[in-house]
Amino acid sequence: MDIETSAPPPAFDSEPLIDMTRVAKTYAALDGSTVRAVDSVTATIKRGEFISILGPSGCGKSTLMMMIAGLLAPSEGEITMAGSRVRGPNENVGVVFQDPILFPWRSVKQNVELPGEISGLSRGRRGERAMEMLKLVNLSGFENKFPSELSGGMQQRVAIARALSGAPAVLLMDEPFGALDAMTREQMNLEMQRISLQSGVTIIFVTHSISEAAFLSDRVFVMSGRPSTVREIVTIDIPRPREIGLMNSDRFGAYVSRLRKLLDS
Ligand code: ADP
Repeated sequence: MDIETSAPPPAFDSEPLIDMTRVAKTYAALDGSTVRAVDSVTATIKRGEFISILGPSGCGKSTLMMMIAGLLAPSEGEITMAGSRVRGPNENVGVVFQDPILFPWRSVKQNVELPGEISGLSRGRRGERAMEMLKLVNLSGFENKFPSELSGGMQQRVAIARALSGAPAVLLMDEPFGALDAMTREQMNLEMQRISLQSGVTIIFVTHSISEAAFLSDRVFVMSGRPSTVREIVTIDIPRPREIGLMNSDRFGAYVSRLRKLLDS
């Protein structure tokens, strides 16, 4: 990914990046009982897409995301990324959680450099890369600050910059703005749209906010209740860039009601 050469708008007839075939997860509890968290998900995600996984709390969204990230093994089925089977954590994937999980003793820049350190990038190259990513998330000038000196929204931007600094093919985001106040969250939604358009990275965004999913996504995977599967995939056919005012339009309202109906059914 290169932010200097602004990526073309995502072409959804582009090649598939992630293929999930009958993916399922059953957890074993300590008392011997089992929880079927995800049941037979089959879907394809193309390069450059912005996908939201929408569903009620506890329906298995995080479980599905962790399996795509290679942080959790499916009990059944198979996930492939860029043609190779996902067998564990790998450098194709960057992850952002609700809690930014920054190292408090490291500066903003040092936090963002972490993936480069782990993959053995030279000091110069990982520093350059960190500065590029901080620019992408609008934090140029904050590189020498420490996490405690930043607001919650800014800390989350650092986490996004860090996840992108490893140049992943896909950015997985698990309720990333769930802990932010409503105004900051709206601002971060606009930022995510910009970052997605500028970087061209594929994004899988877990949320239980219907309007957030509709605003950000090319396609919304609506999950059923547990054991969850993808009940329906809704394509949000609204051109980008989308303005916040769009949320007051009838067109947007129609998508929101459709998604809500699917969630309630
Ligand atoms: P969501 O992200 O949609 O809130 P999760 O994927 O976190 O849902 O959880 C789905 C279901 O799986 C929940 O019922 C949860 O209690 C259960 N679960 C999640 N992790 C574990 C685990 N490690 N062991 C047993 N059950 C789990």
